[in-house]
Amino acid sequence: MERFSPPTAPNGNTLQLEQALQLLAQAGCQPLPGDPGSAAWMQELVDALVDLSSRDALTGLANRRAFELALAREVDRVARSGEPALLLTLDIDHFKNVNDTWGHAAGDQVLKAVAIALLDSVRPMDLVARVGGEEFAIILPNCGTAFGEAVAERVRRRIERMPVCIGPNKQITVSLSIGGAFAPQWVRSTPARWQERVDQQLYRAKAQGRNLVRLEPTAVSVVSNEEKRLLFETFQFQDHE
Ligand code: GH3
Ligand code: MG
Ligand code: MG
Repeated sequence: MERFSPPTAPNGNTLQLEQALQLLAQAGCQPLPGDPGSAAWMQELVDALVDLSSRDALTGLANRRAFELALAREVDRVARSGEPALLLTLDIDHFKNVNDTWGHAAGDQVLKAVAIALLDSVRPMDLVARVGGEEFAIILPNCGTAFGEAVAERVRRRIERMPVCIGPNKQITVSLSIGGAFAPQWVRSTPARWQERVDQQLYRAKAQGRNLVRLEPTAVSVVSNEEKRLLFETFQFQDHE
């Protein structure tokens, strides 16, 4: 990446640009466009650093930090708009066995494959994050309560049927337990409370046998078949059946 003498901060300290550029290069980022040190270049640098600090290094998904920010924004949006939003937490079942049996590198392959499949199973407006070792979360804004179960089931089935290649001629499958809850419409919740409710459902899915979806019961609004058809056709989900 670019080499130049780093500008100094207003207090006289040298800005740690060398280190920032090294971090970006190490993460595989392309060299920044523009003249090193120019205002436009500095903006590119800040944007690249923000992007880097929002992503999980292994899967490229949003990391926990980005997830927490997005969740707080979604709580605000639901309170203002009254549109329902769904939060899902997804935990790979018996993942420790994958590492123990096939090795840590195979475990990493599984995490990457699950991440790609999750991104491919939801709408572009949904946020998919890796929030822990083998734990993922999805924020689905503007998701009608009548569709929650179908969306979560589609994700669960997709993973259950997905062969993951972990070496020459070696494929394995894994499953997910999924917990979910809707943000209460017109009632102001908190990100922590929402996550707590979702985690209770994930715990239920694990306790009741794993490879299951458990959503917090909600009053299902009446949605016509026509409306359902419209929603699912719009996003062209692939069920891989
Ligand atoms: P459960 O069905 O109850 O969720 O069981 P589990 O084995 O999936 O859960 P547990 O919490 O016992 O084990 C999670 C494992 O995830 C243990 C840890 O070594 C592994 N893990 C966490 N982060 C990573 C990672 O980045 N790469 C790999 N390969 N393994 C990881
Ligand atoms: Mg697990
Ligand atoms: Mg876990």
